[in-house]
Amino acid sequence: MESPGRVVVIGGGPGGYAAAFRAADLGWNTTLVDTEKNPGGVCLYRGCIPSKALLHATQVLWEARHATTMGIRFAPPEIDFAQLRTWKNGVVERLTGALGDLCRRRQVTFIQGRARFETPTSLVVDRHDGEPLQLSADHVILATGSRPAWIPGLQIDSPRVMDSTAALALEEIPPTLLIIGGGVIGLELGSVYAALGCRVSIVEMTPGLLPGADRDLVRMVIKRLQPQFQEVLVQARVVALVDTGEGVRATLEDAQGQRREESYHRVLMAVGRRPNSEELGLEKTTVEVVRGFVQVDSQMRTRNPNIWAIGDLVGGPMLAHKAAHEARVAVEAMSGKNVSFEPNAIPAVCYTDPELAWAGLTETAAAEKNIPCKVVRFPWGASGRAQTIEQPDGLTKLIVSPEDERILGIGLVGRGAGEMIAEGVLAIEMGAVVQDLAEVIHPHPTLSETIMEAAEVFFGHSPHYFVPKRNKPST
Ligand code: NAD
Repeated sequence: MESPGRVVVIGGGPGGYAAAFRAADLGWNTTLVDTEKNPGGVCLYRGCIPSKALLHATQVLWEARHATTMGIRFAPPEIDFAQLRTWKNGVVERLTGALGDLCRRRQVTFIQGRARFETPTSLVVDRHDGEPLQLSADHVILATGSRPAWIPGLQIDSPRVMDSTAALALEEIPPTLLIIGGGVIGLELGSVYAALGCRVSIVEMTPGLLPGADRDLVRMVIKRLQPQFQEVLVQARVVALVDTGEGVRATLEDAQGQRREESYHRVLMAVGRRPNSEELGLEKTTVEVVRGFVQVDSQMRTRNPNIWAIGDLVGGPMLAHKAAHEARVAVEAMSGKNVSFEPNAIPAVCYTDPELAWAGLTETAAAEKNIPCKVVRFPWGASGRAQTIEQPDGLTKLIVSPEDERILGIGLVGRGAGEMIAEGVLAIEMGAVVQDLAEVIHPHPTLSETIMEAAEVFFGHSPHYFVPKRNKPST
């Protein structure tokens, strides 16, 4: 097969390597450039994978502690932090090594270095080892991702103030930790550090943790997490940080403007992420950048016709699975296929214990945008499976269109919510109606049944959850 041309992908995260592999599969002469030794990006080296490994360890600790309910008693855990770190790093090395291997098998040329444009079709790569390399390309796909954001006034030069990368390195478990930002990273890493014996305080600027998710779901997560944390402050800000040599003194300001000072051994900044668009030499191209985000059309094409961009760099939810799907669209569009990125639902998961997952329309967004919907809930207390695994504090809810009974959104909280959300995403994408979910036979006893039963609640005939007639689903 004659190659359609030469493509260079800059950035080897889940967006970049998915793009490179798809391009190679479609016959493109493909080069992938990344600063690390192997592909993987933030997700594998400093994000999703190491954090999920640590969250798994956290869950094991929780299970052991709570096994007493079943009459099983373990001795208090002894945690060998060096071994925990080695194990977590081993998971990362296995996966990134496998991606390097996949590059070789697909004949994708992998270059460790930093690429920048000289012209829209030529690049220089400052290689990790060796002289700078000139590359020419028919097409370039930008997938350089994002980095942790810092609050400008709080950017002090102190090793005691960490971002998520430093926190995941797990150099030490400080006795106390202040987390600025009660979003996904704040809660995930907060629960890891708390489980490993650190007293964690969280300061969140908005009125609630995990803004974006429905409050009834968030409340169930907080109910379990709050006792693990020292303090959770919402509608509060950190206005100053000072490294005292022994710790960090933070000035906290509450909603009423009252200030107080507290000292912590470490601080974690988890207030979102910023796109990496600055050092690419984009000024040598006609790519448009707005507030750091590269602008693209629905095929992921920038204003420079042979340059494409995907992932965190282009805005929207900063999620690996969104980037990987954009990668496919970009490469197929580049190959002349009639595709575009127009998902109806991009699932979001917070991997705390319990997990929280949602997709499509939320109840909150429906209220804000005045979108009519019916909401049905199935509490996991009524699920046999949830009872057998000691996880009755969960909830499954469906957001349904009153007009045609289509599934518009789904929300889940509980063990394994991140796995189960895919059924809801499929339902939304396939245009399923609530009756479809009610009539699909789900295995018993499983947590997935709660999706079927929530659908049955809609019709008032869930076998395990009695809804009095006067409490028919809300409109
Ligand atoms: P986030 O946007 O999820 O949360 C940041 C939080 O910080 C928000 O609640 C925000 O209100 C708060 N905040 C902002 N400024 C603040 C201030 N000055 N003081 C106090 N609070 C402030 O961002 P994150 O948790 O840093 O995560 C970054 C990105 O990485 C997100 O896009 C997230 O989706 C992604 N991520 C995803 C996962 C996952 O899918 N499980 C895990 C980690 C990170």
